[in-house]
Amino acid sequence: MRPTNPEKTISEALATLEQALKEKPALTQSQTEAQGDPSKRVWSVFLRGEVELQTAKEVLSRLSQLGYTAEAVFAGEASDDQVHSACKHGAKNLLVIPIRDSTWSSKALAEGIAQAIRREEPYAVFFPSTVRGREVAGRVAAALRLGLTGDAVDLKPTLQGEIVQVKPAFGGNIMAEIISRTIPQLATVRPGVFEAKELGGGECPTKWLEYNPNTSEAIRFIKSRPIEYTSDLYHARFVVCAGYGVGSPEGFKAVSEFARSVKASVGATRKIVDLGWAPPHLQIGLTGKSINPELYVAVGVSGATNHMVGVRRARVILAVNKDPRATIFSSCDVGIVADYRVALSHLREGLRKIGQSLNPE
Ligand SMILES: Cc1cc2nc3c(=O)[nH]c(=O)nc-3n(C[C@H](O)[C@H](O)[C@H](O)COP(=O)(O)OP(=O)(O)OC[C@H]3O[C@@H](n4cnc5c(N)ncnc54)[C@H](O)[C@@H]3O)c2cc1C
Repeated sequence: MRPTNPEKTISEALATLEQALKEKPALTQSQTEAQGDPSKRVWSVFLRGEVELQTAKEVLSRLSQLGYTAEAVFAGEASDDQVHSACKHGAKNLLVIPIRDSTWSSKALAEGIAQAIRREEPYAVFFPSTVRGREVAGRVAAALRLGLTGDAVDLKPTLQGEIVQVKPAFGGNIMAEIISRTIPQLATVRPGVFEAKELGGGECPTKWLEYNPNTSEAIRFIKSRPIEYTSDLYHARFVVCAGYGVGSPEGFKAVSEFARSVKASVGATRKIVDLGWAPPHLQIGLTGKSINPELYVAVGVSGATNHMVGVRRARVILAVNKDPRATIFSSCDVGIVADYRVALSHLREGLRKIGQSLNPE
């Protein structure tokens, strides 16, 4: 939708927004004409950690919906709940690599997965694109001399049933479509880019794979402590995101305060995270979080591809930007051309009502 005509009032913009929230259909997985090849076994690797497990489920249901024989691979122990959940999210089979390494070192995990790949010969293996997932995937690729696509944001089949890995490249100016020359294809996949859809019952056959540890303990486990910061962005229904247009760390604080007052979660672009105005765990985008709120409000955000891939699954987007030519206006539902301070002061009451209906608790 084109930017709201500056002459139109904020109340007209709010009315359009409310209409979009009521009428815009819920997002569904994009339909591709090509179907995956069911004779191809493709793996989604489950590593320990909330985001890792969630991403593995998202990838599993995507691969299963495309028609491949999707298999859940647990590196280490798998709880009954995790097994049940993997089967519900489309796993045809469950493979467990019994890694009992006390350190949970990436080296041991990679060694176990590489041994499993040699024996089972899957067509493709996907890892969550998290700190741990990237390290394990890199080690597996090096051990087996395979290519690796980092940070895929989409997976789709060719007419021949191969898997294309899509990722932004050249500073986000193009979306690169990659088919690896080596088999199995390996890729890390960004959290949150697919919906974790329940597709079946909670039962599927389990196979225990052999694992012969060779790793000498280069790392010693001393103690663990919980990460002190948390963010609810992955589950948020309403997000207000601040970009460089907010002007300063104080501007970010003001937008955070605004978000709280309208019952929204706050997010940030990488530019202001890099500048130290906002903490890294609030970053949305390719190298931050991919989110799927009902309403996403971009404040002083230009709309760069590397940011927008993180909000592809947002249902309704409202953008506030003082530049009528800003890229974000070509991918939002409602746009307001104005200084953000002026726009937010007029939007507060209307967005508070919307926030209340999205987050009634
Ligand atoms: C490999 C790679 C990965 C990346 N990953 C990410 C990522 O995960 N997330 C991410 O966000 N970026 C990412 N980036 C960076 C991304 O390409 C952009 O540079 C960044 O998103 C721009 O941030 P911005 O929109 O805040 O700033 P800008 O592009 O500078 O935009 C600021 C906007 O604010 C508007 N503005 C200025 N003043 C006001 C005002 N007073 N009121 C209203 N509007 C105003 C301006 O018109 C402008 O449109 C990545 C880049 C690379 C190369």
